[in-house]
Amino acid sequence: MAHTSVEQQGTVTLMLDNLCIKKQETVCLTDSYNERIRPLLDSVDTLRGLGVMKEGINLPSIVVVGDQSSGKSSVLESLAGISLPRGQGICTRVPLIMRLHNSRLDEGMQIVVEYNGKKLSIADSQITETLNSVTEEIAGTGKSINDTPITLNVWKPNAPDLTMVDLPGITRVPVHGQPQDIYEQISRIIMQYIAPKESIILNVLSAAVDFPTCESIRMSQLVDEKGERTLAVVSKVDKAPEGVLEKVTDNSVNIGLGYVCVRNRVGNETISEARQMECELFTRDPDLSKIDKNMVGIPVLAKKLMQIQAMSISKCLPDILKKIDATLSKRQSELNTLPRNFSTSAEAMIEFMRLMDSIKGMLHKLLVQGDIELFPDETEMHCIACLYKMFESYSHDLSSAFNNTPDDFLVEEVKLLEEARGVSLPNFLPHSVLVILLQSRIESISERSRDLAIMACHYIDKVVCRVIDIQTQCFPSLHSASRRAFQALIDRKRDECIRLVQDTLDMQKTIFFTLNPSFSESRQNWEEWKKTFLDAIKRNHNTVKLEGIGEINLKNVPKDSIQLDAAFDMKMSVMAYWSVVKMRLVDDIPLHLRFTFHKMVQDDIVNLVVKEVLGSAEPAKIGDILEESPKTATKRRDLLKRIAMLRESKYTLSKIIDKLEEA
Ligand code: GDP
Ligand code: MG
Repeated sequence: MAHTSVEQQGTVTLMLDNLCIKKQETVCLTDSYNERIRPLLDSVDTLRGLGVMKEGINLPSIVVVGDQSSGKSSVLESLAGISLPRGQGICTRVPLIMRLHNSRLDEGMQIVVEYNGKKLSIADSQITETLNSVTEEIAGTGKSINDTPITLNVWKPNAPDLTMVDLPGITRVPVHGQPQDIYEQISRIIMQYIAPKESIILNVLSAAVDFPTCESIRMSQLVDEKGERTLAVVSKVDKAPEGVLEKVTDNSVNIGLGYVCVRNRVGNETISEARQMECELFTRDPDLSKIDKNMVGIPVLAKKLMQIQAMSISKCLPDILKKIDATLSKRQSELNTLPRNFSTSAEAMIEFMRLMDSIKGMLHKLLVQGDIELFPDETEMHCIACLYKMFESYSHDLSSAFNNTPDDFLVEEVKLLEEARGVSLPNFLPHSVLVILLQSRIESISERSRDLAIMACHYIDKVVCRVIDIQTQCFPSLHSASRRAFQALIDRKRDECIRLVQDTLDMQKTIFFTLNPSFSESRQNWEEWKKTFLDAIKRNHNTVKLEGIGEINLKNVPKDSIQLDAAFDMKMSVMAYWSVVKMRLVDDIPLHLRFTFHKMVQDDIVNLVVKEVLGSAEPAKIGDILEESPKTATKRRDLLKRIAMLRESKYTLSKIIDKLEEA
């Protein structure tokens, strides 16, 4: 590939200005543009260099997209007046940020390539070879692509002040040596650059293709449906001059910022030859000469891009300043949440006590007050609600634990009564049978009750650990001491809760007592139900429906037993007393558990941690326990760096915005 010398390049740009408008006019025009645009662009470039994009703040930029080999690199080459790697197949494999700077005539041309924090100053004849080797360093020697950008800075007299990003071209089918998902990889990079509202999309379309079928049109329409920030460059008009006029006037693909038709460098032409050929083409070609002169040629494109760029930047800057401000205060408050370094043990002790207060305060809010604002998006930290759910499910399990209308209705009652015959007077229900039936019910829900205690403690364990993690994450020693102290405590509390549940159950199994009026009241209905039941047996019915009990299958009822009447009474007594027991359990056990957790927060946790920490460290050594972790130290350094960067960006931007307002 031929390279033009510096002198040649100088003439080229002058010629470029000479093309379609009178030279003097253009130079003045460009000069006045450059005067206004350069400071804007410089400020954006400074922000980019400072790295504000790492903070998620998008900067206005012109992004060049197009299908593979549509002529993207050639367009950039024409605009810059320098040679870039171009050709068939995939040449551009990483994003190339090209910054063109208009320099003074006596300064000549200067080229600096930046990537991965490295900077190379090169001659223009080395551009192609340097870009190729840097691309290989970043993306490997094959045909893979990578999203690490290369920045190519070009200072050149009379160059348009533009910053543009050249991206790998879109290709549907992977060629040999390319990963299968090449299309997805390229799309991802392109989307990352064109999606932000601050990006101007420069869509390069080959004149030889049907625009609506272009993949790049489809993609840019995904992010800019009406084409408000899309400008089309029609390349290769020399190859397919017929029909270009119709295509650019029809605008069938919604290009909001208009079309510019160009003819780039072909083969080994020098840039100046290419411009000459372009000018002649648009003047002499019978089809192309009909196109409006404001829509043809690289000089027109350069001017248009500068205008659009200036407009876009001045529109975006106030918003960017706002975003920088917001990010700055976010980072600042992150920094404020990091602990300070302590110079005396008294200071460390104060911080230690403050942390203990914070832990207690947070746990009190979560576990006693049921606060949901501390962790608005983490429902698993809405403690009272979570515990309530567990209790509710326990209550539900207890309610559905026994079927009052089993297929073996009264079988067990009759059997037990037969066995107890003679123990008590006829018509007196033997207490021992009642005890057996009730105890077996309580026994069968014992495990579920103990599980509730274990589950609740496990949950509290998780919540407290989370709080300790949050409050002490910056101090590894304090963190492990607190965790240790708490682990011992929660183990003790778990045993205490299980014992408590067991005591409650044992009490119900041992003492049969109630003053609950609902028990006596339910008795009044039994006689009525029993009559209906016995009547149905007499009439040989298969089922009977009793109000308050449900439909009973009479098939297996021991109909001939003389204990049937008593068995019915027994069943009713058990059911009535069981409802009393159930009501007690579903309230008492949760109450006990919550009270235990409440006491634990109020009295135990912080005392224990204080004891654990101060028991092992002399007050003078408290500073050691509060030594910050390497992670915190790194985070502090990182935050300080980011804050400095944001402050500098804010300063740069405020200055330029003030100037704009003055003007
Ligand atoms: P990219 O893949 O979109 O960057 O495309 P390139 O800029 O590498 O160009 C692909 C091929 O098309 C190269 O061989 C260029 O020389 C050629 N090309 C680009 N623009 C034009 C043009 O306006 N006219 C002609 N005849 N060829 C062009
Ligand atoms: Mg390219």
